[in-house]
Amino acid sequence: MGVSDDDRRYLRRCVELAREALTDGDEPFGSVLVNSEGRSLFEDRNRVQGGNNTRHPELAIALWAVDNLDPDERAAAIVYTSGEHCPMCAAAHAWVGLGRIVYVVSSAQFSSWLHEWGAPPSPVAGLSINTVAPELLVDGPAAEFEAEMKALYSQKFGPST
Ligand code: ZN
Repeated sequence: MGVSDDDRRYLRRCVELAREALTDGDEPFGSVLVNSEGRSLFEDRNRVQGGNNTRHPELAIALWAVDNLDPDERAAAIVYTSGEHCPMCAAAHAWVGLGRIVYVVSSAQFSSWLHEWGAPPSPVAGLSINTVAPELLVDGPAAEFEAEMKALYSQKFGPST
């Protein structure tokens, strides 16, 4: 399908949420849930600084969606996110039956940057969404936001931190 101009509008919001998370002391990740009519229903950003490393926005979206949308609405909804879902979030997304995913930066790209910076690797393998959930429709990366996201990651995980 590819990343469209409509998609880029929501990805821009994801980058803003990632920046907000970083400014507040969390890790720079942000995500938005959009319904089939293009309306933003729920958004969140990373909230791990309290010590709960499962507080990823993509997991928050999956849990919100299963409480607030019926199965058809979930299947038609799109999740936009600044970084490709980790395996935990990809599994949650698939288990609750959400629809398409569009991301800015791939897990492979993020893992390679951590390696480049000599940062500790994630405790969870940087598998692609489709390795975890083969049937999900996934688009990304979105090259036009990649440098901006790399700069945000660098502030959190880079060599100067
Ligand atoms: Zn995650």
